[in-house]
Amino acid sequence: MTTTVVIGGSFAGMTAALEIKRKGKEQHKVILIDKSPLFLFIPSLIWVPLGRREIKDISFKKEAILKKKGVDFVVAEAVKVDPKTSTVFTDHGEFHYDHLVIATGPKVKYDVAPGVEEFAHYIGTPNGAMKTRKALEEFKKNPGPIVIGATQNAGCMGAAYEFLFNIEKWLREQNIRKKVDLYWITPEDYLGHFGIDGMPMGETMLKSFMSMFNINYRTQVGVKEVQKNKVILTNDEILPSHFTMLMPPFIGVDFVTNSPELYATPTGYLPVGDDYRHPDYPNVWAAGIAVNVPLPFTPGKVPFASPKTGYPSDETGKIVAENIIRVTNGRTDLKEKAWGRIPGLCIMDAGKKEVLLLSTSLFKPRTFAIMIPNVLYDFNKVLFEKYFLWKTRNGLSYLP
Ligand SMILES: Cc1cc2nc3c(=O)[nH]c(=O)nc-3n(C[C@H](O)[C@H](O)[C@H](O)COP(=O)(O)OP(=O)(O)OC[C@H]3O[C@@H](n4cnc5c(N)ncnc54)[C@H](O)[C@@H]3O)c2cc1C
Repeated sequence: MTTTVVIGGSFAGMTAALEIKRKGKEQHKVILIDKSPLFLFIPSLIWVPLGRREIKDISFKKEAILKKKGVDFVVAEAVKVDPKTSTVFTDHGEFHYDHLVIATGPKVKYDVAPGVEEFAHYIGTPNGAMKTRKALEEFKKNPGPIVIGATQNAGCMGAAYEFLFNIEKWLREQNIRKKVDLYWITPEDYLGHFGIDGMPMGETMLKSFMSMFNINYRTQVGVKEVQKNKVILTNDEILPSHFTMLMPPFIGVDFVTNSPELYATPTGYLPVGDDYRHPDYPNVWAAGIAVNVPLPFTPGKVPFASPKTGYPSDETGKIVAENIIRVTNGRTDLKEKAWGRIPGLCIMDAGKKEVLLLSTSLFKPRTFAIMIPNVLYDFNKVLFEKYFLWKTRNGLSYLP
């Protein structure tokens, strides 16, 4: 019997755990450790501040389906790992493994600039999304300028763009759009770079959205400081703001940085190969955001990162599962797919409108890439949410 411990049970880790168990059957014991009992469909958090979704609509307790599929689930926070003795230390005891999958996602670097944590909102956690909802209720009583964007070194610009267009629509619904100067700030070299060096027609499309919705924008800027009623940019421009939402950079979680033997990068990500296996420990694997992904473009005036989206997170979970099964069966031909060669499949919500981003690979060179706007309704994003929650709730991890 081989024991695999998976840390982190979201897009990457839940997929990896279920796939190892599905493929390894009785020969494989799988223990999934997550500090949260819930599976949360993070992409729909952008709708929570505006009341379009409640947290309960986009999350569920994952224990029952994991148990049904034969995966042991432990709610605990992993503190560190000693890869030399194959031991994971958690706040609920120690776990020994034959294989370890690290799928712990990101930690948000709020201290990227003074005042970001105190005065800017962040929508990427349930708490953050609910606090943002409360702040918007207050904002309605005394509307004024709004700044939305991403800070230097951020990589998840897509979610901030989505929130921007959703806020614009919300302001119109509240009949206060005329009272609000809306600003978009981004470290990207140009609109729609997205940390993937853009998509055909992407910049033109985003420029036309900005002009159509009367949104002021600044590219190639970072945040020097956020104060109660203003955002000071790295070029010293001061933007007044009654409500600020920023996407800070993501870094690796404390569990990784507390485990120096993992030789994580300075930003806390794991230096795995295209087979997602650690180069120094053949029984340690990483999937999802925990993976180090080298920058696929030359950094511009203001640094920013590449996005690590849901589809490649799920895919790398599958690749890791397949490779662990191959290794336990004595095979040496491991499946390899570099992060940037995984197909690009993303839907950007634009406030009951949407843009589909499809490409043969996430990073260039791509043989085919297209952005398809849908101005009628954001039904693809809604369908994707319903599909992903259905698939995960039923433990159908092998589906795309
Ligand atoms: C606001 C927002 C919107 C987004 N929208 C989209 C979108 O539209 N499309 C898209 O493709 N992607 C989107 N993304 C990105 C997508 O959410 C991520 O790609 C995906 O969640 C990554 O999956 P993951 O499993 O690697 O990490 P995560 O989903 O972050 O999961 C990490 C898991 O590890 C657990 N964990 C962390 N540390 C520990 C520890 N020490 N011990 C135990 N457990 C631990 C956490 O509880 C969590 O369950 C969005 C992200 C954000 C923030």
